[in-house]
Amino acid sequence: MTDEDWRLSDQETYLHGRKFRWAAWWPYRDGWDHDHCDFCFAEISADTTGHADFNEAWVTADDGYHWICPQCLEDFRTRFAFEVQAGPPREPSGSIGKLR
Ligand SMILES: [Zn+2]
Repeated sequence: MTDEDWRLSDQETYLHGRKFRWAAWWPYRDGWDHDHCDFCFAEISADTTGHADFNEAWVTADDGYHWICPQCLEDFRTRFAFEVQAGPPREPSGSIGKLR
């Protein structure tokens, strides 16, 4: 049986039913300069030099540790029973959170 999305590994064990909020990226610890989406590994960073995929994304509301990009949250929110606090700002053309 391989109807599994390539992005799935063991996220269910630690992300099922978690609450997420929309946030601009910040360093969880001093010295960290980026994180990755827990599913697709898109880069989420405050970096403005142009290689980050997102500078805002969804983050676990309680510990601020796990980041998920907008696309993956949409794709997995039902399966994982995510609770989502307030949506991202509405922007046209699906460019939410994308660096331009
Ligand atoms: Zn993703």
